[in-house]
Amino acid sequence: MVKRIGVLTSGGDAPGMNAAIRAVTRVALNSGIEVFGIYDGYKGMVEGYIEPLTKASVGEIIDRGGTILGSARLPEFKDVEVRSKAVTQLKKRGIEAVVVIGGDGSYRGALALTEMGINCIGLPGTIDNDIVCTDYTIGFDTALTTIVEAIDKLRDTSNSHHRCSIVEVMGNRCGDLALWSGIACGAEIVITSDTGFEESEVLERLRDLDLIKKKRHAIVVISEKITDVHQFAKKVSLNTGFSGRATILGHVQRGGAPTPSDRILASRMGEKAVDLLMQGIGGQCISIRENQIVSVPIQEALVMPRTSRKPLQNLFERLV
Ligand code: ADP
Repeated sequence: MVKRIGVLTSGGDAPGMNAAIRAVTRVALNSGIEVFGIYDGYKGMVEGYIEPLTKASVGEIIDRGGTILGSARLPEFKDVEVRSKAVTQLKKRGIEAVVVIGGDGSYRGALALTEMGINCIGLPGTIDNDIVCTDYTIGFDTALTTIVEAIDKLRDTSNSHHRCSIVEVMGNRCGDLALWSGIACGAEIVITSDTGFEESEVLERLRDLDLIKKKRHAIVVISEKITDVHQFAKKVSLNTGFSGRATILGHVQRGGAPTPSDRILASRMGEKAVDLLMQGIGGQCISIRENQIVSVPIQEALVMPRTSRKPLQNLFERLV
């Protein structure tokens, strides 16, 4: 059976990564497996920035955002020579398998390492919910909570000033943070890569909300990477009865204490990852589907089609 495993966080950080590190470490230690923290993602793996983890060293982190192991991007990890250096560093320490907490890119690295003889299991750590094989990623619920709190506050002030608040949220081309927060906040309009963006149509809908529906304010939630929201806000002021104001929530969405749901999701997924490594399995990633923790081959996960968001989009439209 596997005797020593490593754990790392890679790519963009997400609240709940620490809870996952803690779960992997404690479940493994309680099963008689030694655990090593690999700092700064694949960069630390290549450079040998690797230290043993104890039950105590992952104490008091379940409630902390970010990642105690640090994260980094290392594009060169795509080169087999660079990965060979990483494998040497692991073998030197007797580390036979690794849990990789990150997004799609990190999964590709995990698969490549598995093919070089180091069993890796991927855990979905990203606020964007853009990993299609899982219903939810670790960090999504926390980011959603942060967004909802922010929009609730914006609504108070928009209401007093006959404003249209245009709120740009993260998601990296996945509209889930926008759609979920739009529903939770009672937004008037949600714009994502799924809905598309026809500027004139949105302005027309805002005029309708003002003149016909007599709304005192309007909230538009829009995913990042769709349009320049400051320019769009100016057009709202020029072309509708609302005064348009843009707010880009930015990196605050990545921080904060993870919600209980994210802590529990991370703990369940961390447990599953260790169980698979104990069975000598690698090249898989952990998902939650219909509230069951399951594993999917990374190769399949990377090409899986995304589940349609139409039902939730329809719900949103029926709530406006
Ligand atoms: P995320 O994991 O959040 O999607 P990135 O796409 O930046 O973030 O990937 C994180 C890291 O994973 C990269 O910096 C790189 O070290 C590694 N990686 C990404 N793609 C590959 C690949 N095709 N082969 C090997 N490693 C990769």
